[in-house]
Amino acid sequence: MKIDVLTLFPEMFQGVFSASILGKANEKGIVSLNAVNFREYANNKHNTVDDYPYGGGGGMVLKPEPVFAAVEELVHASGNSGNKPRVILMCPQGESFTQKKAEELSKEEHLVLICGHYEGYDERIREYLVTDELSIGDYVLTGGEIPAMTVIDSVVRLLPGVLGNETSAVTDSYSTGLLEYPHYTRPAVFRDWEVPEVLLSGHHSRIEGWRREQSLLRTLRRRPDLLESAELTAKERQWLETIKKE
Ligand code: SAM
Repeated sequence: MKIDVLTLFPEMFQGVFSASILGKANEKGIVSLNAVNFREYANNKHNTVDDYPYGGGGGMVLKPEPVFAAVEELVHASGNSGNKPRVILMCPQGESFTQKKAEELSKEEHLVLICGHYEGYDERIREYLVTDELSIGDYVLTGGEIPAMTVIDSVVRLLPGVLGNETSAVTDSYSTGLLEYPHYTRPAVFRDWEVPEVLLSGHHSRIEGWRREQSLLRTLRRRPDLLESAELTAKERQWLETIKKE
């Protein structure tokens, strides 16, 4: 997979692209991560990428020319595989980013993420250039860099070969439609607080049963909305109804 991020602050990505799991994935060639300064595509002598909004009002607006030019060059350079890249605008007005969306994006060959700054984008970028608009939550950040890092991190960790067996994404919260069960490690007793006995039993099916039950309980208490679309057996639904009544 190739991921290009268009930003005015490429230096912000240096650490994220070279450290930990993303850094290893980049090194191993599983993903090619690239931060591109779209100021380099400005078509005026001062390299200006923003301008005052038509109609007046505060804040500056990102001009269409450099963003279109940068995306078009990246798309062209992406070769002849026939699959067009997904061009994603980071934007607080976009579709809410979810694990499901991360799974969908992880199947693509090429992603181009556009990070805004200032007041906003010229609307023609939104209308004629991008394939997706993504928001990481109902709050406003100063720029799209941190949202883009969030999207990239969650997509890259799903690529085959990125996570070792010991950190499989399969049981992660949201992947199963439920929140993940609690974890414990050594020591078995810490300040009189004991690890649940079942986890020390070595009995795999009992451990699996306990984990499933904990996952259901945790989801019921913290995110009951997820239970509506989660895949549950009739027995599990019945059990949750009894718990709710208690
Ligand atoms: N005036 C814009 C509005 O009200 O929708 C907000 C602009 S914000 C200050 C600047 C940039 O930060 C946005 O263009 C976007 O790239 C990014 N950004 C801010 N909050 C975001 C969020 N929750 N999700 C994704 N991107 C966000």
